[in-house]
Amino acid sequence: MTDVQARGVADGPAAPTTIVEVDGVTKSFTTPEGQPLPVLEDVSLTLAEGEIVALLGKSGSGKSTLLRCIAGLIAPSSGKVLYRGRPVTGANPGVAMVFQSFALLPWLTVRQNVELGLEARGVPLEKRHQQAERAIDRIGLDGFESAYPKELSGGMRQRVGFARALVVEPDALLMDEPFSALDVLTAENLRTELLRMWETRDFPTKAMLIVTHNIEEAVLLADRIFVLAANPGRIRTELSVELGRPRDRRDPAFVRLVDEIYGIMTEREEAVVAPAQAEVSAPASPTDQPLPAATVGGLAGLLEILAARGGREDLPVLASELTFEVDDLLPIVDAADLLDLAVVDEADLELTEAGRTFVQADILVSKEIFAKQAQKRAPLVRAICKSLANTKDGTLGESFFLDLLRRGFAEDEARHQLDIAIDWGRYGELFEYDANSGQLTLETGSADEPAA
Ligand code: ADP
Ligand code: MG
Repeated sequence: MTDVQARGVADGPAAPTTIVEVDGVTKSFTTPEGQPLPVLEDVSLTLAEGEIVALLGKSGSGKSTLLRCIAGLIAPSSGKVLYRGRPVTGANPGVAMVFQSFALLPWLTVRQNVELGLEARGVPLEKRHQQAERAIDRIGLDGFESAYPKELSGGMRQRVGFARALVVEPDALLMDEPFSALDVLTAENLRTELLRMWETRDFPTKAMLIVTHNIEEAVLLADRIFVLAANPGRIRTELSVELGRPRDRRDPAFVRLVDEIYGIMTEREEAVVAPAQAEVSAPASPTDQPLPAATVGGLAGLLEILAARGGREDLPVLASELTFEVDDLLPIVDAADLLDLAVVDEADLELTEAGRTFVQADILVSKEIFAKQAQKRAPLVRAICKSLANTKDGTLGESFFLDLLRRGFAEDEARHQLDIAIDWGRYGELFEYDANSGQLTLETGSADEPAA
């Protein structure tokens, strides 16, 4: 009688009761230049009763966009979201969200913030108070009812975020990086408490979907993990986590799974051109191949540590030694890989010949190597050098490049891309940038090799 779900597509036999189904969702935004910006491509997944699912992906892979589609805050460009078998057309009635930024109203007290969700759903006053009280107790905010958000620590603020979501007793709880604005200990504490509540019988929610960029967090929490690839966001892999609870990060099976996911997330996506052609055909354009958000300083640091460890090391080991979050380490690894200064093999990072020379040489030679690799392999750096070389005085305003970048990126990301390229170009002494005038100028003596 309802729209029949597409059966047998991805569901195994005897699928548990599905709460949310995402079916072939594609989402495209429009850049400021009016070009389509594909953010999600053909994403399908389900969230069933009794499970915790993690969506794991680098920043920019469309995780928040997907969560917004599921919550019904934005509509997919194509494909659909179903809640209990019914297409979601407005706000999804079965879900509540927890945001990274807490999203509290500063002029309301803890109690008022928590009651907000109930008010929106038309719950009468008396009942609102009762339910809010329960949610506040449950999440450990007892005694803070009359406090204002600014009086609270980050951890307590996020408790309010959780209480506000749980107070409506949502069928499914959606969380968008709920722990990533918290310090490590506070995050661990809140995560553990959430799991403890989840395991009690009276937890008001039947399923949880968490978006995260943190591999360990996904493995700690989830029964199933969807790893997203970026540009546009799509599902790269789905993994089941067959570990008992409570989970121990030091458990060899835990470590193995984290390792495996590291490998998946750092795997270079297949180049579109065949390797034999790659040398001669035009390289990817700056919008096809965005620069990873890595500074030269970070990159050099990582390569030095790698060299000190004999030129090859396990990525999770590197990350934990550096006490880096994955999200911070992965762009640097991507940059090393893009510039062919290091390669990822399984979950190991290994210096290349060029990488080794880069680390060992004196600064001038290092800069030369970097310049050569960046010009050869980083499309935006290459494009800037060529454009500058084609002017009479080797100078162009940044708006020229920003305009080009806006065809393929949202406003912020266009700026971000240019900033990365400027950092790289300056280090390689390929071009200079004057922040006051916004001018980029070719360095004299930088041999912009004409396309051979
Ligand atoms: P994630 O949460 O994985 O970091 P997002 O879903 O926030 O990724 O964003 C994915 C991409 O979509 C980014 O490039 C971002 O700039 C772009 N994007 C997100 N929302 C909008 C929007 N409203 N308009 C234009 N571009 C957007
Ligand atoms: Mg996000």
